[in-house]
Amino acid sequence: MENKNVLWEKHRLYLPEMRKRAIHRCKNCIFFVAIKGKEETRHGCIVHIKAYGQLEKRIPAILPIMDIIKYVGLEGLGECLKHGNPEAQSCGRFKLKV
Ligand code: SF4
Repeated sequence: MENKNVLWEKHRLYLPEMRKRAIHRCKNCIFFVAIKGKEETRHGCIVHIKAYGQLEKRIPAILPIMDIIKYVGLEGLGECLKHGNPEAQSCGRFKLKV
């Protein structure tokens, strides 16, 4: 079924939160950090680490891998690295880097 209502199609409404989500990428988010291991540095999201996610601790640009393991273990580290694509569309926890 084709929608012939041109007025409807041309006027899309975006809630402010949705617009923010649509235009930003993970690389613009404060929770997106470099995770430094022994041999390589990868990127990931640390929003699930309580101390950082609730902004109780200052978020560094580079975080040693051992700090993440200390907070959330290897499973948590895997979760952080899962969100390592800088071009991924931002999620609901997005906070703009300043
Ligand atoms: S936008 Fe979401 S998934 Fe991406 S870095 Fe920020 S908190 Fe993590």
